[in-house]
Amino acid sequence: MQLQALTNSDDADLPISMRLPLDAIDRINVAASAPSRSSDRHVTPGAYLKRRRTAHGLGVHDVAAVLATEPRLAEHVRAEWLEQIEADIVPMSFNTIVALRRAFTFDLDILVQLAAIAMHSPVEPPRLCRICACSEADACLGHRGACSWIEHDLCSACFALRMPPADRPAIAAVSPSASDVVA
Ligand SMILES: [Zn+2]
Ligand SMILES: [Zn+2]
Repeated sequence: MQLQALTNSDDADLPISMRLPLDAIDRINVAASAPSRSSDRHVTPGAYLKRRRTAHGLGVHDVAAVLATEPRLAEHVRAEWLEQIEADIVPMSFNTIVALRRAFTFDLDILVQLAAIAMHSPVEPPRLCRICACSEADACLGHRGACSWIEHDLCSACFALRMPPADRPAIAAVSPSASDVVA
């Protein structure tokens, strides 16, 4: 029996074009592609989810707390299960992916692309921030709008956070975490 997160009926609103590739993720044995991951040239689907979760300032326990599972599990077991998904040890089901999107934002298209790359498909690696894994369609949002690219793989929000506070330009406000703390 495969463990998966429970979803609500309105998740059926997800476009069918998105459901099909996501359903394919169900069938991906990510662990089987482990040897190629050792090169670490590409972000794995699990690592992508972990980076996005961390960028939202959430721990696995925070996400586990808001995630119901079928069958029902204690929260600390759900947290361990999430860690295994993020380590690409256990596959993520369609329902789990949809439920995770309720806890934090990530780009379904990117997840599908990364899953394809993990399956050795000749897919162009998506453009991601190397720190927070934000992307064009899933940018960091702050009071002053979305982040932008500073380097090929570094967004303005993460760039600003690396600088000493006094030297940070106005884009520091782009980072949700930074602006929320200041506010
Ligand atoms: Zn970033
Ligand atoms: Zn960003």
